[in-house]
Amino acid sequence: MLIGTRTSSEENAYRELVKNTHAHAFLKARQVPEMQCCTRSGSQNNLERQIVCMANDSTYAVVEEVANQVGFHLTRVPSTAEAERALQISEDAQTPHRQRVRVLITALGQRQENSCFSLLAAPRKAPLFVCVYSHTAASTASIRLACFDAGANMVTADPKSLQQALSKVAREGTSTGVRSYTCPHPSCRLGGLSEDELWTHLPLYHSNLNFPRGMECPVCRKCCGRVAVHLHNQHGPPGRGEMASENDYPPSALHAFALVVCRRRSDGKYLLVQEFANSGFWLPGGRVDAGENLADAAVRETLEEAGVAIRLTGVLRFEYRPLGVSDTRMRVIFLAEPLDDTQPAKSIPDYESVGASWVSAEECLEIEARDRVRGPEPGQWVRYLSSGGVAAPMTILTAQEGSTPKCANEQ
Ligand SMILES: [Zn+2]
Ligand SMILES: [Zn+2]
Repeated sequence: MLIGTRTSSEENAYRELVKNTHAHAFLKARQVPEMQCCTRSGSQNNLERQIVCMANDSTYAVVEEVANQVGFHLTRVPSTAEAERALQISEDAQTPHRQRVRVLITALGQRQENSCFSLLAAPRKAPLFVCVYSHTAASTASIRLACFDAGANMVTADPKSLQQALSKVAREGTSTGVRSYTCPHPSCRLGGLSEDELWTHLPLYHSNLNFPRGMECPVCRKCCGRVAVHLHNQHGPPGRGEMASENDYPPSALHAFALVVCRRRSDGKYLLVQEFANSGFWLPGGRVDAGENLADAAVRETLEEAGVAIRLTGVLRFEYRPLGVSDTRMRVIFLAEPLDDTQPAKSIPDYESVGASWVSAEECLEIEARDRVRGPEPGQWVRYLSSGGVAAPMTILTAQEGSTPKCANEQ
């Protein structure tokens, strides 16, 4: 039983773990009713809240402090073999799940004897929350992935996050209501959970797992596409309407508008539209049609309202403004130039506009001063561009998902 490398304090801790586990098994054998046993807290906490920890001194000190904060009993082990042995004893004690070792916290380990990976990969007979506490693992994507691939439930180097996770683990099996649900994960099967406990348990233990489609929901017994998504939205706090459910989001309409600041290169004049019903001059532009791109809408509206064919050269502004929960207004303001500087502005009145004019910066500000503008935008953009303002490149807007703009040397 004695292993040479074990120190006496570790030996004591280890003995205590064995003693506690057996003591509880003994209590069980004397017919402590399961429900009573499970709901009990306080004096039972040390038995119900066991952590096995394999870590160096500095990490252990952190874990120890956190364990004290959340009321877990901590046993330190020096090696993978010892950790495995402690977990084995806990599993063999045949106590209900929540009286076993609940949590394994391990550093990555630098040698074969204390590497976390074989520990993570070992099959478990009972649900165990496994946390790799390591700065290296937490900050290195590939190692982080390797830990989860091997069976970790959480990878962190943040004491506060560890504390919050352990608090969630500690609350499992403590609620007073109906606790008849079992985790649907085939190798977990943690039972005796309330609806809310199951709701918290699933992402905490199994967020890295893709449950097969069509599994039966443990709560409502319906077969569902993705059990985790179903549970997340239909049960627990969202199921009772205490939290927003993704399924209940109200339909939200996006109202998109494209506006154009069009400047003629030959004389620096701006294209302004004389708006319908004597409402003053304004920028060309309007509502984006269903199925239409922003840029196409900008070009179309400028032709309809101002009679000028344009080329968009940049994006001056992207505005996205939610109006309550059901409507959102979006406006993109483009910078543009005419394809042909000699093309006259529109002069035949129609439903789109009364006509349009090429105006100098001074004239624009003069019209504004005389309150003959529909809104402040023409004057604002004229001032911005006159004082050296620049536009973002057109490549920041695209209808293509998952694309990146070409670099200058690729074009
Ligand atoms: Zn589970
Ligand atoms: Zn359900």
